[in-house]
Amino acid sequence: MILPGATIGIIGGGQLGRMLAIAAAELGYLTHIYTPEQHSPASQVSWKTTVADYSDSKALQVFAGSVDVITFEFENIPHESLEMLESRRPVFPSAHVLKTGRNRIREKTFINETGIATAEFFKITHEEELKRATGKTGLPAILKTSELGYDGKGQVTLRPESDLAQAWKGLHTQEAVLEKFVDFRMEISVIVARGKDGAVSCYVPVQNIHKNHILDVTMAPAPIEKSLAAEAEAIAVKIAEALTLRGLLAVEMFVTKDNRLLVNEIAPRPHNSGHWTMDACVTSQFEQAIRAVCGLPLGNPQRLCDAEMKNLIGDDVNSARNYLTDTNARLHLYGKKEIRPGRKMGHVNILKIQPV
Ligand code: AMP
Repeated sequence: MILPGATIGIIGGGQLGRMLAIAAAELGYLTHIYTPEQHSPASQVSWKTTVADYSDSKALQVFAGSVDVITFEFENIPHESLEMLESRRPVFPSAHVLKTGRNRIREKTFINETGIATAEFFKITHEEELKRATGKTGLPAILKTSELGYDGKGQVTLRPESDLAQAWKGLHTQEAVLEKFVDFRMEISVIVARGKDGAVSCYVPVQNIHKNHILDVTMAPAPIEKSLAAEAEAIAVKIAEALTLRGLLAVEMFVTKDNRLLVNEIAPRPHNSGHWTMDACVTSQFEQAIRAVCGLPLGNPQRLCDAEMKNLIGDDVNSARNYLTDTNARLHLYGKKEIRPGRKMGHVNILKIQPV
């Protein structure tokens, strides 16, 4: 067990690192952020920061030597860097979990091998393969880079009128995945924590609504039947156990129109769709991640009230102060100076508090 007073190293300096660091501080830990970014959102609230590239092995070694345990808010660091960190300090989630989650083909293959459904998919490494695969998926279909895609970046919807050669070239990648288009009823996610002793704990499934491919609103709980919610939780637990995860895992799923669940993506870290837990649950996803990583008993994920999380993206942040007069709204800003379109600047949790 890594006890309060110890130092937690966090790879990545964005808002997830910031909220992890705040949760760690509340439990009496120090945090040390490793990020290439000067004045990052996470470093504003942490004890120490190392500003260096994710492939700077010297800086990574010094960082590892100065912390007691290492976790991530950003998983896409070079494989050699990960292995180096793991050879020096406990790293949770493990390099194996990170590797599985960050390549869409490895991820979906693993999920299917665990007995869980995804959209039908095909590995694509050249244009001819793409043409053949669209014959099997039909159109529309979605073409995604295998690695480094997020918030709709690195993916394109192929339609009957699309120029496939152009679409393949436009992705600028060696490897992609073509997915059958899912005409879903809604998108949901489940966040599961798995602790040192193998204990697992789930937050209630939530509904995620996207705008311009970026999460806009999360509704907690998702408006789905009890049996489907239980099934979604069971899927998340099964994946966490199959990975022998220690830490937090977000599992994004599609609910199809005939009420089947298809896993779209997993992320072994706190997730944007779990931000509502900061104000509406006994234990937030960030505290839960710190507990799991440090080997403390997991906290209670129970919901205290229903909630809606609204992301403040780009210019949205200019109206953030309006939420301050709503006494059921809890505002969280990330300390980012520059507003850019599509940039996550903060979020607000609107609590559906029932009178006691
Ligand atoms: P991803 O980067 O895989 O999380 O995809 C981003 C968003 O694109 C998802 O949240 C969905 O709204 C949409 N999307 C991704 N894959 C599919 C699919 N196979 N069928 C329909 N919509 C999809």
